[in-house]
Amino acid sequence: MADYPPGITASEEARLAEVAKDWALAHGLTVRPPLAVIAAGADPQNILATPVPVTLFPSPFPKVCFQQGIAVQKVYNQLYASISQDEDFLARMVEEIGGSDDFISELWKVHLRVKKEGYVQHKSLGLFRSDYMVHQDSKGSGPQIKQVEFNTIASSFGGLSSQTSQLHKYLSSTEYPLIEKLIQRNTLDLPPNNSAAGLASGIREAFISYGASSTSHDKCVVFLVQDGERNIFDQKHLEYSLQSSTDLVIPVFRLPFSEIQQHTRLADGAGRQLLYKPPHLQAHTFEVAVIYMRSGYGPGDYPDARAWEARYHLERSAAIKCPSILTQIAGTKKVQQVLATPETSPNPSILGRYLSSSSSSSLSALVSTFTNIYPLDTSEAGLKAREIATDPELSKGYVLKPQREGGGNNIYRAAIPAFLKTIPEAHWPSYILMELITPPPVSNTILRNGKLEQGGVICELGIYGTCIWDQEAKTISHNEQVGYLLRTKGDQSEEGGVAAGFGCMDSCTLV
Ligand code: ADP
Ligand code: MG
Repeated sequence: MADYPPGITASEEARLAEVAKDWALAHGLTVRPPLAVIAAGADPQNILATPVPVTLFPSPFPKVCFQQGIAVQKVYNQLYASISQDEDFLARMVEEIGGSDDFISELWKVHLRVKKEGYVQHKSLGLFRSDYMVHQDSKGSGPQIKQVEFNTIASSFGGLSSQTSQLHKYLSSTEYPLIEKLIQRNTLDLPPNNSAAGLASGIREAFISYGASSTSHDKCVVFLVQDGERNIFDQKHLEYSLQSSTDLVIPVFRLPFSEIQQHTRLADGAGRQLLYKPPHLQAHTFEVAVIYMRSGYGPGDYPDARAWEARYHLERSAAIKCPSILTQIAGTKKVQQVLATPETSPNPSILGRYLSSSSSSSLSALVSTFTNIYPLDTSEAGLKAREIATDPELSKGYVLKPQREGGGNNIYRAAIPAFLKTIPEAHWPSYILMELITPPPVSNTILRNGKLEQGGVICELGIYGTCIWDQEAKTISHNEQVGYLLRTKGDQSEEGGVAAGFGCMDSCTLV
């Protein structure tokens, strides 16, 4: 598609921007306005919303790559469910990350405390997202996706992503054909995207799988959120989808992480049911069947010991956690590195062990999504990585990552050697070094805060998966692939986070 997206006039572009903006507002493809849009304190009643940044056209994405991501998702779900069940392996990962990472150490301590008294809930819910970029190697073989990271906690944008696909579908049937003869009505190959409904149905399945309430209270789902969340409508779409079941009433409440102790307690007795009393309904108490965490993934949510006690309180409860601490740790970059660097792992056939029921072809399909990732320890692979990471020339092809989520934490390219000088060598093993994936150039126009940014862009595909398993019985009762996310950023930016202000929402037209 050499002429795609088409060159259009300034007035055509302005028209598209106008239509996209109104569609976004009308359909909740929105966020709370950032400071760039509205001055601090200018919306004291918190009544405003603004369109999320989007591309004016769906970006072209290789069909084989898209299908590759879809095909491998259920195997990835199974892999991460299995890793979550392997406590010894995760204990080794925590040890390798080392005590210099206080956040991971504290998480692990919470797990150990609960383990000591015994978990009362063995079921676990994963709402996962596996992120990829297209890699085209110089040898001329076809394009392939390579995994950027695998998210096991607060995998976001599923609520807005299906909406973005709808926006582009709408534009392709109404606007594009008018301005560009080459894009006749509905001729773009726009894959269906059920991310919002799909993620919600994962939560719904967990709600059912919790079983009947064993206190006298109705069951509910709690979304554990951050104060002042700007990306709230992304979460709201999941909430509305959950509540739209006609055969099942699922009360959903939003609980700020900072208010866990204030509004929840454990039932008396050995069952440790989590009881939630909504602040606005003091006569009501609910038994929490599922805790869906859209917070708690980074140190910022744990300012003091009380916050860690709150996480412990949830972890020891009977609610099904999305995710449990073990699953959260399974999602660290360290685990991803060990999977991708088999010679450094204690068991060379680690993937075969976790995926013994998978065919060898689905196993090799999974392995083909790995790119080179190195530890920064004193193993053979680690020493090689240290050579690269301390060399201003060699480090240009790499990104250095700590064990953090949520964007803005990585160190890129030539900045790596100088950064490493600022931290003691004993702390280096808490980082991993990853080869940069350099996708083929694509161009598009981003509509951000009412302004258009035209130019080269880089696209990152996320595939969502839902999984429910039993930690003790080691069985998986639910495993689905549910929709996708395409995030796009200007090619001058290293980070791609939409909420962090670097990237924008997009959808795929398959080529
Ligand atoms: P986080 O957990 O903060 O989201 P990521 O590993 O997803 O961390 O990195 C953040 C962003 O950095 C990605 O969305 C992507 O834009 C960029 N990035 C990360 N790893 C790579 C890589 N190997 N190649 C190219 N870009 C990368
Ligand atoms: Mg990421």
